[in-house]
Amino acid sequence: MQAALVAPPPIVSRQLNPPPVLAPAACRDQLDRPLKDLRLSVIDQCNFRCTYCMPKERFGRDYPFLSPGQRLSDRELLQIVRGFVSLGVEKVRLTGGEPLLRKGIESLVEGIASMSSTTGRPVEVAMTTNGSLLARKARSLRDAGLRRVTVSLDSLDDRTFRAMNDVDFPVQRVLEGIDAACAAGLAPVKVNCVVERGTNDGQVLPLVEHFRGSDVTLRFIEYMDVEGPSAWSRSRVMPSDEIRAIVERAHALVPVVRRSSETASNFLLADGSLKVGFISSVSHPFCGDCTRARVSVDGRLFLCLFATDSIDLRCQLAASRPAEAIADAVRDAWQARGDRYSELREERRANGKRQYPTVRMSLVGG
Ligand code: SAM
Ligand code: SF4
Ligand code: SF4
Repeated sequence: MQAALVAPPPIVSRQLNPPPVLAPAACRDQLDRPLKDLRLSVIDQCNFRCTYCMPKERFGRDYPFLSPGQRLSDRELLQIVRGFVSLGVEKVRLTGGEPLLRKGIESLVEGIASMSSTTGRPVEVAMTTNGSLLARKARSLRDAGLRRVTVSLDSLDDRTFRAMNDVDFPVQRVLEGIDAACAAGLAPVKVNCVVERGTNDGQVLPLVEHFRGSDVTLRFIEYMDVEGPSAWSRSRVMPSDEIRAIVERAHALVPVVRRSSETASNFLLADGSLKVGFISSVSHPFCGDCTRARVSVDGRLFLCLFATDSIDLRCQLAASRPAEAIADAVRDAWQARGDRYSELREERRANGKRQYPTVRMSLVGG
């Protein structure tokens, strides 16, 4: 894809956005945001214990993960997806926990990829994964209809990587997964790195150098305050502007026009060898562009990553026309939606007010 080059704006600039694509009026929320994307968490368990997401001290052996009986079956998840697709959703991202731990994930991918959106185009299926099982699954996922994959990778340094996943998993196997994804035709693969000050901020430039000239888009994410990590503090958040400055000390960056509803501010290295994105969820929240709904594997709809309440969609599965019943429930909920938690959290923080409760990232999928 040819990236358009424009004069450098500040990192959060919106003035270069193309006009938003209008969704049906029925699917716009209270802040006029259309419902465009679904993030479907297909399992709440994970084989990693990333310290910033599922720290061991909280997600130990006795943690009450959902039982197999509480998780929706493929057939039920497909009904839910059908409901969303009938409302105009064209992109479904499978996430978790670790989505590749779900048995038969390929048939779920296949079921979604074979749906047509309201525009007649096939529904686009993407996945976010820790990459640990990707080397052996990339080809079958691609054959099943997966179009895009995002792999989380916080460090190239093996010792740091093992410490961050906290299950001693070697970085080399994730790198092999990324290579397999590119080889299977899932390029451009996105690689996400959560930057935690004092832990892996020294890995920003090594990651840039490693992926230059490859089929990878590298994105740096600010460390968010999610449920679980007791170690979170504002001082451990490295703001995107600071991460970007590290990259700019070595490489000039040219901004890429931002698509509406895109979470990252993207840049190209001036020599065109790598696209780098910055996701500034903490320092510059982007709630105004948020067009994503989230569904957990037990069938609960979350209208925001930080929502503490949810809407039960499971009960709609018993209706005579389940996909229609789900569409009705989702439409009602979306039309009432006014969530903009990251913005509000920043305002509360600035005013020294008590914070909202935080989300369990591994349940709603990031
Ligand atoms: N297990 C998969 C993975 O790690 O890619 C998918 C689920 S994970 C919850 C989805 C994304 O959330 C990952 O890219 C992860 O880095 C991100 N994430 C988890 N905890 C985070 C935190 N505290 N701050 C920012 N991003 C976080
Ligand atoms: Fe698992 Fe992903 Fe959370 Fe890491 S970020 S613990 S891989 S769900
Ligand atoms: Fe969307 Fe909620 Fe995140 Fe804001 S805080 S961008 S509304 S998910």
